[in-house]
Amino acid sequence: MASCLMCQKMLSKTLTIRELLSWRKVTDDVICENCKATFTVIRESKACPQCGRNQENQEICQDCQRWHLMPNTLKIKNRGLFQYTPAMHDYMHQYKFNGDLRLAKAFQHVVQLAIEAAQVDVVIPVPVSDTTFDHRGFNQTAELLQLVGKNRHSPVVYPALKVVTRDKQQQSKQGRKDRMDRTQPFVIDPNYAEKLHGNKILIFDDVYTTGRTLHFAAQALQTVEVASMIGFTLAR
Ligand SMILES: [Zn+2]
Ligand SMILES: [Zn+2]
Repeated sequence: MASCLMCQKMLSKTLTIRELLSWRKVTDDVICENCKATFTVIRESKACPQCGRNQENQEICQDCQRWHLMPNTLKIKNRGLFQYTPAMHDYMHQYKFNGDLRLAKAFQHVVQLAIEAAQVDVVIPVPVSDTTFDHRGFNQTAELLQLVGKNRHSPVVYPALKVVTRDKQQQSKQGRKDRMDRTQPFVIDPNYAEKLHGNKILIFDDVYTTGRTLHFAAQALQTVEVASMIGFTLAR
């Protein structure tokens, strides 16, 4: 029997009647119920309507007010699924920095359901640089989207953005100021530009920290005429 990838305790999987009757492929659990319970869902009724940050009210948060003051910045809205709690930090550390690809499975299903509910046409994962990809062996953002696009209710996933310059791997080692000062790292893959036209776009990333990455992604896509564009992150 497999053990939980976070706490190493044995996993016991008992199918519910509903799962048995639905004929739906039950996703393999990679973390236990106790570990799942340590993650905190962000409720839309208690989140900044702009960036999705968890807070007590539904007012635009201070971070977003600062973004609004910056010239040429798109007011792209973001929805965050989970708070960036110590549990999420530990998860990200094991998943990204220790490179445990199996952990992608822990959130694939919930990401799929949330994205289906967002009712968009196209999902674009935030890309990683070639250096990061070679080092880690996978794009952590794209891996979380593995189940999206697998049924007829799902939007399609297009890797329409590419990294041109700075290495995202180093981003985690940078301070906030360095991250804000970066120059545009993304460019549209010309193979996808036409396919995005007139569609509702969702830009997906693993974590929203300063918002810099999402704003760059939105700016890079600005040249394409899309119907709408929103951001969506696993953690905020
Ligand atoms: Zn566990
Ligand atoms: Zn905000």
